[in-house]
Amino acid sequence: MTTTVAQHTPAPRPGADADSSDAASTPAAKAAPERHNLLGMSREQMEAFFLSIGEKKFRAAQLMKWIHQEGSDDFAAMTNLSKPLREKLAQVAEIRGPGVIYEGTSSDGTRKWVLEVEDGSYVETVLIPAENGKRRTLCVSSQVGCSLDCSFCSTGKQGFQRNLTAAEIIGQVWVAQRSVGPRRDTANRPVTNVVMMGMGEPLLNFDNVVPAMKLMLDDNGYGLSKRRVTLSTSGVVPMIDKLGDEMDVSLAISLHAANDELRNELVPINRKYNIRALLDACHRYLAKCPDNRQITIEYTLIKDVNDQQEHAEQLAVLLKELPCKVNLIPFNPFPNSGYEKPSRNQTMRFQQWLYDAGYNATVRTTRGEDIDAACGQLVGRVKDRTKRSARHIQSVQLDAD
Ligand code: SAH
Ligand code: SF4
Repeated sequence: MTTTVAQHTPAPRPGADADSSDAASTPAAKAAPERHNLLGMSREQMEAFFLSIGEKKFRAAQLMKWIHQEGSDDFAAMTNLSKPLREKLAQVAEIRGPGVIYEGTSSDGTRKWVLEVEDGSYVETVLIPAENGKRRTLCVSSQVGCSLDCSFCSTGKQGFQRNLTAAEIIGQVWVAQRSVGPRRDTANRPVTNVVMMGMGEPLLNFDNVVPAMKLMLDDNGYGLSKRRVTLSTSGVVPMIDKLGDEMDVSLAISLHAANDELRNELVPINRKYNIRALLDACHRYLAKCPDNRQITIEYTLIKDVNDQQEHAEQLAVLLKELPCKVNLIPFNPFPNSGYEKPSRNQTMRFQQWLYDAGYNATVRTTRGEDIDAACGQLVGRVKDRTKRSARHIQSVQLDAD
C-alpha cells in the first residue's frame, strides 16, 4: 500500500489565531469572540447567520458552494464576494474542518483518513471505490465510540465518548473531497455515495446527523441524491419514525439475527425494541418515502452463531413482507472478540439458502483490510486518545505498511 502521513495539524481553536502560536496567551486573544464555524451550517442556519451580520440571505448559497463544492476554507479566495465582505467574514467566521492525522490508500484502492476532532478524539473515514471507480462510497462516522455495545463490534467495545457535531460529520465528506480533488461536474464527483456506517449509532446523534445529511443532499452542498445517502441503524425505533418525518434517505438496518433470543445477545438494543417493533418501523418509514424504496438488511455472518441453514430459513420467513435487499457481511475479526469469520464456502451456502427462499442477497467483500478500514475495524489501532504524539502517528503508520 502507499501511505501519506499528513503533518499533525489540528484545526485551530475558535478565537485563536492559527498563525500566531503565542497569540492565544495574550489577554486580547483570550477575550476574542468565538468565530462562527460555517462548515456544519445547513442552508437555513447559514441564511440566518448572514441576516444576523446585516447581509443578504443569498450569500448563504455562495458560501456553501465555496465550502462544499470548491473545498475552500479561505475567505480571501472567494472572488465573487466583495473585498469588504471577505474581510468582515474573516473577522466573525471561519471554515474549520477536522485535522488530518493520517491518510492511507490500501492496495485495493480503499482510502482512509484518521481525523482529529475538537477535543483531540480521533474518528475515521473510509472511501471505497467500486464499479471501476464510477462509484466512490464514503463511510462516515457519527459518534466517537458507541454506547450500544453490539457484541461483535469493536467500536462498541470502545464505549461511548461523545457525539460528533454537524461540522465534524460533514467535515469528513469535506476532507475526503478535498483530498481526492474538487468536484468538477456532477458526473465526476470525488464522493458519489455516503453511508453512515462508520463509528457510532447515527440515530443517537440525530440533531447533528440530520443537518449534515441535509448538506450532503443540498444542491449548493454535495448534491447527492437521497438514494445515494444511506443511514445505517441498529434499530433505535422511535428515531426511525422521527427520521422519516424529516427526510427520506436510504435506510439500512443492522439485523444480524432473525429471532429475538439471538438478537438480544448480538445487538443489545433489541431488548428495548424487538425485531417485530423494528420491522414495523421499517414499514412506516417506507410508507413515508414517495418513491419505490427498499430497506437494506445488513446481516453480519458469524461462524457457528448465525450462519446455519435454520438461521437463513428464519430470516427468509421474517423478511417475507418487507421490501428489502439483504447484504451479508462476513464478520471482520478483531482481537479478543470471541467470534470467528465463517469460511467462504459457508458464506456462499448461506447466500444460496436465501436464494432458494427467493432472496438475491449480496455478500459485501471486505475492503481496505490492510489499513484497518474494514467494517468493525474502524477503531483500528487508534485507541489511545491520550497519546496524540509522533509515536502514536508512527504506530498507525507501521500498522498500515
Ligand atoms: N451503528 C450503526 C452504523 C455503524 S456500524 C449500525 O449498527 O448499523 C456499520 C455496520 O457494520 C453495521 O451493520 C454493523 O453491524 C457492522 N459491523 C460492526 N462490526 C462488525 C464486524 N466486526 N464485522 C462485520 N460487520 C460489523
Ligand atoms: Fe454501535 Fe453499530 Fe457497533 Fe452496534 S454495530 S456497537 S450500534 S456502531
